[in-house]
Amino acid sequence: MEIPEATNFIQEIIVDDLKTGKRDKVHTRFPPEPNGYLHIGHAQSICLNFGTAQKFQGKTNIRFDDTNPTKEDVEYVDSIREDVRWLGFDWEDREYFASDYYDKIYEFAERLIELGKAYVCELKGEEVSEYRGTLTTPGKDSPWRNRSVEENLTLFRRMKAGEFEEGECFLRAKIDMAHPNMNMRDPAIYRIKKATHHRTGDKWCIYPMYDFAHPLSDWMEGITHSICTLEFEAHRPLYDWFLEALGLENRPQQIEFARLNLTYTMMSKRRLLELVESKTVMGWDDPRMPTVSGLRRRGYSPSSIREFCERIGISKADSMVDINLLYFCIREELNASAQRVMAVLDPIKLVIDNWEEGRFEEIEVENNPENPEQGTRKILFGKELFIEREDFMEEPPKKYFRLKPGGEVRLKSAYYVTCVGCEKDENGNITVVHCTYDPESRGGETPDGRKVKGTIQWVSAVHGVDVEVRLFENLFTVENPAQVPEGQVWQDLLNPESMIVKQAKIEPMVANATAADRYQFMRLGYFCLDKDSTAEKLVFNRTVGLKDSWVKQQK
Ligand code: ATP
Ligand code: MG
Repeated sequence: MEIPEATNFIQEIIVDDLKTGKRDKVHTRFPPEPNGYLHIGHAQSICLNFGTAQKFQGKTNIRFDDTNPTKEDVEYVDSIREDVRWLGFDWEDREYFASDYYDKIYEFAERLIELGKAYVCELKGEEVSEYRGTLTTPGKDSPWRNRSVEENLTLFRRMKAGEFEEGECFLRAKIDMAHPNMNMRDPAIYRIKKATHHRTGDKWCIYPMYDFAHPLSDWMEGITHSICTLEFEAHRPLYDWFLEALGLENRPQQIEFARLNLTYTMMSKRRLLELVESKTVMGWDDPRMPTVSGLRRRGYSPSSIREFCERIGISKADSMVDINLLYFCIREELNASAQRVMAVLDPIKLVIDNWEEGRFEEIEVENNPENPEQGTRKILFGKELFIEREDFMEEPPKKYFRLKPGGEVRLKSAYYVTCVGCEKDENGNITVVHCTYDPESRGGETPDGRKVKGTIQWVSAVHGVDVEVRLFENLFTVENPAQVPEGQVWQDLLNPESMIVKQAKIEPMVANATAADRYQFMRLGYFCLDKDSTAEKLVFNRTVGLKDSWVKQQK
């Protein structure tokens, strides 16, 4: 195989490994913990692991990292599979569970004991931290550190047999209690946890620590490059130590990259779970959630998410990505492909006084001016229409180019109309706007070339369909909701207006919308059908608005 050129620091390591012959293949893995739904940060990791392997004709495994028996759930496993597949990646038959390795991992632990590199320690909670020392002071040896191999083996087997209670003792590595890296100060390998595991049931009452299970799982699967986020950097010496201490050849290499942080977005699974459980959102797939399922429901495509991950790339230093870049990626895609339709979110009636009662006219409009191949459709224009309430003002400020008394606007693709008055209810609220139309302006063109600055959309009052429309804003009001100001809790940072529901009117053609369809509601943004939609009541989500603030910021 010709070795492709590296375009980031991880690929540089790989290219080097392939060129020097350190490796003859690339094998990565994506190791989610099934304790929540995947979010956009995971999507970055998925694109990175699968994308990197693909580039070098390698393979990627999925490994459910289910070493924590109490927090995991089958629902999460299923959702993770669905999301990875939806993002466009295939792990073929290479789906593994860390819990499948418990027997082997246990054997490795016994081997470490036999090598004199692990011991059963009986220090309890507080004592353990006390003995560990601090960043500036060395720790001291546990009084149980120098037990014989036989004694350790016996005790460890008794731990496995359930003869001790939680916290009574644990197995730890024998490394160096004065090591400058705290992770190397005789870290725990196995702890007692009398919990039922979602796959292994009650077979085990001792569970391996992540730091022990992970390198061994990587090694057993033949992983070459074990890509993880930056917080594991200080664990790397331990990752290497376990593999070396056990004398394993062809060791995988751990490589860290900076995790994705997005502005106005909470990424911690624990917090996302709280949002779901408190019913602050409609579920893991609420369109405001940063989860893959939420983005899917919101109308994002897999390709737009992959494009986003491609654009942000990877780095070795933590940073914050502007959420507008995510919006930009889906907007670009939808701009090219979405069917244009007219909708009115906050309808007010418009009556054309000089139009004949009962007369309708067919108007042909383009389905997508960005792509003429999408053809045209016909819509009906008549005497009574709906327009957007905010497109009329009785007493407008200067430079208001929409409808006002005596003012003229273009009704999109139809006619010029001039406002001649309005009706109000007993509270002074405007109920109907009256206009006259210029028969010479059919199709929105004027014969005399007179200029009209405003163009507004409309929906035929007779033919328009009632739909519910949900508009979304960021779930949080602050750029970095992970940083909670003193005296506040993170819930205080929630945006109370993150979802606004409108009873809208829309062109009749959308009555046949399917889940796969994407629309641009002219002047309003891009929309898709929500899963709450029924035959009686269509529900649309706004995927993203039309305004492109990200590009503006770049200029
Ligand atoms: P959280 O802290 O939100 O619970 P986690 O890191 O514990 O996330 P895992 O299920 O263990 O979640 O993550 C699976 C993989 O996804 C890991 O390799 C992890 O490094 C990666 N990952 C998780 N969050 C992010 C993120 N924000 N950006 C990039 N990669 C991430
Ligand atoms: Mg994790």
